[in-house]
Amino acid sequence: MQAPLSFLIRIFPLFFFLNTGCVSTTISGGLEDNVGTGPNSTFCLCRMDDEKVGLQISARLENCTELKAVGDDFRWYLKLKCNQCGDQTYEFVYVDLLESQPLKGGRGSASLVIKCKFCSNENSLNLLKESLDSYTYDDCPKYKTIVVFECRGVQPIFFDPRVGWEVKGLESGTKFSDVDLSQDWADYDEKAKDTVGVYELKYQFIRM
Ligand SMILES: [Zn+2]
Repeated sequence: MQAPLSFLIRIFPLFFFLNTGCVSTTISGGLEDNVGTGPNSTFCLCRMDDEKVGLQISARLENCTELKAVGDDFRWYLKLKCNQCGDQTYEFVYVDLLESQPLKGGRGSASLVIKCKFCSNENSLNLLKESLDSYTYDDCPKYKTIVVFECRGVQPIFFDPRVGWEVKGLESGTKFSDVDLSQDWADYDEKAKDTVGVYELKYQFIRM
């Protein structure tokens, strides 16, 4: 014996009501997020994953403090992973505070707008100036967030510190510019008559 649909509806009216209501809410919520997104709106659900990702570093500072990235032209070199398809940038790309690229559909701008080579999704990453911070002698050896990126459709997976850093002598205040963190860095502080150095630099990304 088959139970006709109308019979089931009569028996479980509340269930059908709730179920239908639930489904329609989900769909309309999704559609609202797709409003005004143009021809690629099928990909737009992944734009809901706008998130802030912090870059944390940890290092051993010898007789120095306030390690920081200096200047608007400091380039943060990153490798990125597309949230939509998982494809990664093979080369490092960079963001700085000088460059700003427009987002499609007049949605403002970002430090970097990058089209995924695999799925063609338009992803972006924005460098938040107000998030910039220095790593001090007191922070050693813990991890500390020194910059936050606003990520849309993409996430950073590798960081290359390279050049353009600055540190200060712990007691002397002597400024050391153009510090290269591609590897361990060491110098001599004339004023303090002691060596200074940044060693064992490590990094990690965290969701804020
Ligand atoms: Zn992709």
